[in-house]
Amino acid sequence: MRRITQEIPQEVILEEKETMARVRSMQGRPASYYIVTYGCQMNAHDSESLEGMLQEMGLRGAPDRTCADFVIFNTCCVRDNAERRALGNVTWLKELKKTNPDLRVAVCGCMIQEPGMADQILRTYPFIDLAFGTHNLYHFPTLFEQMVIRQRRVIEVVNDDLGSVPEELPIVRANPYQAYITIMYGCNNFCSYCIVPSVRGRERSREPGRILEEAEQLRREGVKEIMLLGQNVNSYGLDRENGMTFPQLLREIDGIGIERVRFMTSHPKDLSVELMDVMANGKHICPQLHLPVQHGNNRILKSMNRRYTREAYLEKVRMLRERIPNISLSTDLIVAYPGETEEEFLDTCSLVEEVRYDSAFTFIYSPRTGTPAAKMPGQIDPETASARIQKLIAIQKRITAENFQNYLGQCHQVLVDAPSRRDPRQMSGKNEYNITVNFDGTPDLIGQIVPVTITEARETTLRGTTAEAKHD
Ligand code: SF4
Repeated sequence: MRRITQEIPQEVILEEKETMARVRSMQGRPASYYIVTYGCQMNAHDSESLEGMLQEMGLRGAPDRTCADFVIFNTCCVRDNAERRALGNVTWLKELKKTNPDLRVAVCGCMIQEPGMADQILRTYPFIDLAFGTHNLYHFPTLFEQMVIRQRRVIEVVNDDLGSVPEELPIVRANPYQAYITIMYGCNNFCSYCIVPSVRGRERSREPGRILEEAEQLRREGVKEIMLLGQNVNSYGLDRENGMTFPQLLREIDGIGIERVRFMTSHPKDLSVELMDVMANGKHICPQLHLPVQHGNNRILKSMNRRYTREAYLEKVRMLRERIPNISLSTDLIVAYPGETEEEFLDTCSLVEEVRYDSAFTFIYSPRTGTPAAKMPGQIDPETASARIQKLIAIQKRITAENFQNYLGQCHQVLVDAPSRRDPRQMSGKNEYNITVNFDGTPDLIGQIVPVTITEARETTLRGTTAEAKHD
């Protein structure tokens, strides 16, 4: 039976708001916080909610973790090294606690939601004061209050059996010009290597009216670019009665008039012609798409449970380019999936050559306990895996360099973000293709969309010049 998504009841959210007010006036509570975020944009956006709740409770942001009273790690468990990095950093704080016994340490996010992880935290990391999973983020004020009042550790991990979504939580957006909007939570796809459906739960779409209201509010606040987020945005609305589909939602959002609209992630199997048409005809939808292919071989794609073939994927790329000739494509690629032969790996290389992505995130397969692929025979040895990823990276680097040559002389619209990290006399921002562009400019341009003529291609970024700079 199809499950229908519901919002977390208003009374529950109201209780959390009352808790935030209580904590605010509480004597002896932590006065400052620092948030460490790992993983994807969904996690970054969850951290914006955590920050909103912490500020509502009267805490102020600390410049770094060594001078905060409360440090929270928002973790990722998609790959083993992300998990190890998070635990390594948490352990490092144990030393800090010896010199500052009032320091409170919390861990939340996907890692805590993994089966057995909460127990492991209880046993192995006694200095962690608070731990909670992905489904009870909205419950954070209550858990925080319990931690402070009871002076003992609080651990709460729940499963979202109700298929519910939280609304109206406070939020502190990291950037006043670019904003994330979560349109759905969870994933129903169960790719055989992926732990996300276990830790983020089944697909739950937000009510379209709520999303449109949020987008409208962001437009009024002067936000120039929004990114619609979901593990698989293409199946947005399927869990709602008479739900709006993603192409319909995207068309409505385009009509609101925010200058740039992007979205991620798109599962290739659900990328419809209707969506391609909405992208092609939209006024504000960027000509850019992250379309994770993961592998170029049909046997491996089947084993991964991706539910498309190499040919079907390539056909969708062809149809996209037919409608949006300048579209910039990026992807995710996994090498050394269990049982991958050299020939099968070469199929990934040839697919990359054929599609010619502007960029690709390449990963060595990382077994995740509880996923079917982790138990598959033919796990690949580290030397072979390393050789394969090096080869793939080299191919993609060459293609990126060749593609970037085609951008030379073009005028791109750059949303200026900050001074360049390497040279503060330069400004840095993203063009419509989501590629970083650096150019000579001044900080007063931050938050504006500026036309920049591309003059130079670097390994992963572009350099350019503005009309003013040329006239100087
Ligand atoms: S679509 Fe597949 S890879 Fe993406 S989150 Fe869902 S299960 Fe994981």
